[in-house]
Amino acid sequence: MKQPDGLQGENGIGPSSEAFRAPEGGGINARPLTLPPNTTLAKFGEYIARVADIVGQENVTVISSDAELQHDDYLDPSKAHDMFHITPKEYFVSSAVVAPRNVPDVQGIIRLCNEFEIPIWPFSIGRNVGYGGSAPRVPGSIGLDMGRNMGKVLEVNTEGAFAVVEPGVTFMDLHNYLVERNLRDQLWIDTPDLGGGSIIGNTIERGVGYTPYGDHWMMHCGMEVVLPDGTLWRSGMGGLPNPKANPKDPPHEQPWNETFGLFNYGFGPYNDGIFTQASLGIVVKMGLWLMVNPGGYQSYMITFSKDKDLHQILEIIRPLRVSMVLQNVPTLRHILLDAAVMGNKKDYSSSDKPLTDEELDAIAAKLNIGRWNFYGAVYGPKPVRDVLLSVIKQSFLQVPGSKYYEPNDMPDNLVLQVRDGTLQGIPTTTELNWVSWLPNGAHLFFSPISKVSGDDGVAQYELSRKRCEEAGLDFIGTFVVGMREMHHIVCIVFNRKDPESRRKAHWVITTLIADAAERGWGEYRTHLAVMDQIANTYSFNDNAQMRLNEKIKNALDPKGIISPGKNGVWPKQYNAEDYKVPMH
Ligand code: ADP
Repeated sequence: MKQPDGLQGENGIGPSSEAFRAPEGGGINARPLTLPPNTTLAKFGEYIARVADIVGQENVTVISSDAELQHDDYLDPSKAHDMFHITPKEYFVSSAVVAPRNVPDVQGIIRLCNEFEIPIWPFSIGRNVGYGGSAPRVPGSIGLDMGRNMGKVLEVNTEGAFAVVEPGVTFMDLHNYLVERNLRDQLWIDTPDLGGGSIIGNTIERGVGYTPYGDHWMMHCGMEVVLPDGTLWRSGMGGLPNPKANPKDPPHEQPWNETFGLFNYGFGPYNDGIFTQASLGIVVKMGLWLMVNPGGYQSYMITFSKDKDLHQILEIIRPLRVSMVLQNVPTLRHILLDAAVMGNKKDYSSSDKPLTDEELDAIAAKLNIGRWNFYGAVYGPKPVRDVLLSVIKQSFLQVPGSKYYEPNDMPDNLVLQVRDGTLQGIPTTTELNWVSWLPNGAHLFFSPISKVSGDDGVAQYELSRKRCEEAGLDFIGTFVVGMREMHHIVCIVFNRKDPESRRKAHWVITTLIADAAERGWGEYRTHLAVMDQIANTYSFNDNAQMRLNEKIKNALDPKGIISPGKNGVWPKQYNAEDYKVPMH
């Protein structure tokens, strides 16, 4: 089913509501709070006038006052700064935000940036919370708001079970699109914990969700990218012209090949990966595979009563996951992650110190949950589910004190009810509650990869809990179990209005990155402030990875226009030392 005209993101909290938000900040003649590097005010003014000619004045916002920096809510996210800042909030900030209306606008903007040698930071929605949101790595870059005007679901193909979307399409948008057209009986999406981010942004950051299609990058198929010189490029089968296309039409108007969303690799070198966590292009379309409704579903929670059960639980998980008895991306959550969704710290304790084991046991008793809580689901017709569930129960319930629950058993357990939706691809924003654990709550994610093993998992847990507690913070975290590894996500929650609390969070993450590297653990994704540090830990053979990344960067983007410093890759014009992020 092709939807050539698509929808202008009319659903949920996606680009719809944001599209019609009057841009705040200064008019196009205003003076920005921060200029781009090596740019005088006069040159900036000239650039802004020219970019307004391309996209229209209504799509240009100069960030000239504190007003735009007041958007600090996930539901109304800033497009110009990091809402969850560990530096003062004026640090990671754009000079202006420009919203292209279509692919030719993007091409025009990128060419203009090359002419003026002004850096640009593309984002789709800016809900990359915990990793920097919409903010640029280089203060004063132009923020390129891809989601405001480009929010169409371009195709949902029911036979091939794939969709093609623009940057502004959020997980909620695509889910609602399927529901409104009665397509959810046929197709499901996969969603991360929070459904308000864009599919493209999350996928190219290699984010995860929790159905069997949880590895978003694995499930993407086909990209359309504007390269740093303005060329429009289609990946994989998109390189093959569609015979129905009129070759005289501009490339962006030509329909993509019918196998674009079906086969990822095409012919010859496979380049899609270089556009993930990268600074080599602006993604304007992407295909993704949708999961065929499995015809039956049952989610569950298994609670484990002791902190020290962790080792045994992980040893049980590994064989089940690697053999796909655990079909989806399950999670093993620390008690405080669940407790924080259901309340804030003050609801449980008057202490402002890290909670003790005794206090954690009391919370477990109060909420009727475990010190560790495992959330999974089985998919398929009942006989299939029954057999899988019997193996799962038999395996986990060997742990003394463990208990098995289904959502019907615990209607008041908010987390179990929300996970029941998430594990079948229904987006939510409820999980955001845990950020309010502390007043003015914000978070950083420390996200090391771990083996699915008791020894590794326990060692990472003990180390990260110890560092959090040394800084006076509670450990809040979860193990997200992939096909062969775990993303151990440590949620470093701090009070963003308290400089001391911000410093502590910054100290915890930098210390943990160094601790982890010593033990051979690396992170899969990170916040702007520590990208360089993590990139430096991937140092095998005299930083061979970085040297290749820099070569590619300088070859494709010789003026260093797109996202300089992203994931530690600096173009030759920049000296990383000049952009060191001090602990404020
Ligand atoms: P979300 O969609 O989850 O709100 P963002 O829009 O903040 O996430 O995107 C996260 C990061 O992904 C951005 O900071 C940027 O580095 C990259 N990114 C997002 N969208 C694009 C895009 N369309 N083209 C290139 N890079 C992008």
